[in-house]
Amino acid sequence: MASTNLLQSSSISCTLLPHLSRHISHSTNLRLYHSSSSSNNQSISFKTLKGTPLLDVSAHAKRRFTSKEVEVASPSDLLFESPLKIVEYPDPILRAANKKIDTFDDNLKKLADVMFDIMYKTDGIGLSAPQVGINVHLMVFNPEGERGIGDEIVLVNPRISKVSQKKVHFEEGCLSFPGIYADVERPESVKIDARDISGERFTISLSKLPARIFQHEFDHLEGTLFFDRMTEDVIDSIRAQLQALEKKYEDKTGVPSPEKVDNRRRPRVVAGFGKS
Ligand SMILES: [Zn+2]
Repeated sequence: MASTNLLQSSSISCTLLPHLSRHISHSTNLRLYHSSSSSNNQSISFKTLKGTPLLDVSAHAKRRFTSKEVEVASPSDLLFESPLKIVEYPDPILRAANKKIDTFDDNLKKLADVMFDIMYKTDGIGLSAPQVGINVHLMVFNPEGERGIGDEIVLVNPRISKVSQKKVHFEEGCLSFPGIYADVERPESVKIDARDISGERFTISLSKLPARIFQHEFDHLEGTLFFDRMTEDVIDSIRAQLQALEKKYEDKTGVPSPEKVDNRRRPRVVAGFGKS
């Protein structure tokens, strides 16, 4: 339950960062915009969240997700060597199945520490294990994005039990998509069952920025990437950047990109979240 208490501290609610991958300076405002049509920042309205409680899952939340069988990670699946590197789109590691963790040892703690290191170093506020090449159900985040400020949250084997009916638009970035920022619609609040770094089970409700970060990272654990949830209009606004990453991958590896934005199929957008 320690993690739950951590999230109730005022430090998170008083200083929220505007993007999952910070690309503008610290702000006490969280950009939440409710236009559903575009990634045009002109339409953004600012809403101060200072003092807003983070743990206010909507009373209307009602969707429930069922568990599916997931393979359990072996000790070798969790072996890693520092320094870890961020895996970039379209590396197939980001689409691979991720295994559940059932060994809560010093190696796992070290992995979480190293993930925080690389997250801070790359100006991120959240990071999932597959993004550093480890295909397991582990994520770390700190909405403050700076070591020593705010709270460091580690979630192992998280599951979503409820999401709010209310959805909000927000401009997201992703460390696996350097330089790309675009609008994604997601539920405003979620209720989560997870384990902490010691293996203790807990339930927590998140809203606002922590809920946004969690859902983005949770998607990574399901092999879903943020552009899977974007509208065609939004995709069009970043299409060239996605294509550039695909070309970069091909130039680096000498093999064809395992996926191409131009071949993406619309149903994936709908399928991703509810299937968890
Ligand atoms: Zn990401």
